[in-house]
Amino acid sequence: MIITQQKGFDEIIKHLKSGSKVFIVGCGECSTVCQAGGEKEVLDMKKKLQDSGYIVVGYAIPQAPCIATHVKLMLVKHKKEIENTDEILVLTCGLGVQSLIENMKCFIPVHVGCNTLFIGTVDSGAKEFFEVCSACGDCTLEYTAGICAYTQCPKSILNGPCGGMEGGMCEVDKEKDCVWVLIYNKLKEQGRLDLMEKIYPAKDFSKHRKPLRRILK
Ligand code: SF4
Ligand code: SF4
Repeated sequence: MIITQQKGFDEIIKHLKSGSKVFIVGCGECSTVCQAGGEKEVLDMKKKLQDSGYIVVGYAIPQAPCIATHVKLMLVKHKKEIENTDEILVLTCGLGVQSLIENMKCFIPVHVGCNTLFIGTVDSGAKEFFEVCSACGDCTLEYTAGICAYTQCPKSILNGPCGGMEGGMCEVDKEKDCVWVLIYNKLKEQGRLDLMEKIYPAKDFSKHRKPLRRILK
C-alpha cells in the first residue's frame, strides 16, 4: 500500500483562499488505513476548516481515487457540490491527487493535503508502517529470500553485507539488524545459502526510466 501522512493544518490552509468554499476528497483504501484521509480524518478536516471560516460544500471518499473509474463516479455523484466549490482539498497520496486532476477536466484549484511517504506494509495493529519496496522495476526478491536489500539496506547494497556491519547490526543505524544478516538467516532456514555466494550485477535502471508506463495487451 501507499503510505501517506496528513500535512499540518497550517500548511494546508496556507494555500486556500480565506473563507472560500471547499470540497474535500479522501480515499477509502490506503489513506484510510494510514489515518490520513479516511472518513474520520475527512470529517475532522471539515470541522477544522469550518471552525477557521471556510465553507465546506461537501466531501467524498472514493474507494480508490487513484483509479480513474472511481474518480469519475465520484465526480458524477457530487457534480453539483463540485460545481459550487472554489477549491478542492485532497487527502490522498500523490496518485489520488493526480488522478483527480486528470479526470476532472475543469479549472478548480486542487490542493494537496497529504505527503506520500513510501510503499509499505502495516503491522497487525495498523499502527506501524514499514517501507519494503522501492518499485525499482527489476525485482530481485527471488534471490534474497523475499527481503528487499535494495530498500532495507540504507546503502541499497545488492551484494552485502558491507564492511561496516558489526555483530549483525547495521553501521548506518546501529539499532537495526543488517538486512544482509536477515537475508542470510532466512536463506539458511530455506536451505538456499548457495544464493549468498552469487555476485549480483547492478540493477538494470533502464527498466526504471521515468515516467514509467505499462500497457495491458
Ligand atoms: S527488488 Fe525491492 S525495490 Fe525492487 S521491486 Fe523487488 S521489492 Fe521492490
Ligand atoms: S550494515 Fe548491512 S544494512 Fe547496513 S549499510 Fe551495511 S550492508 Fe546495508
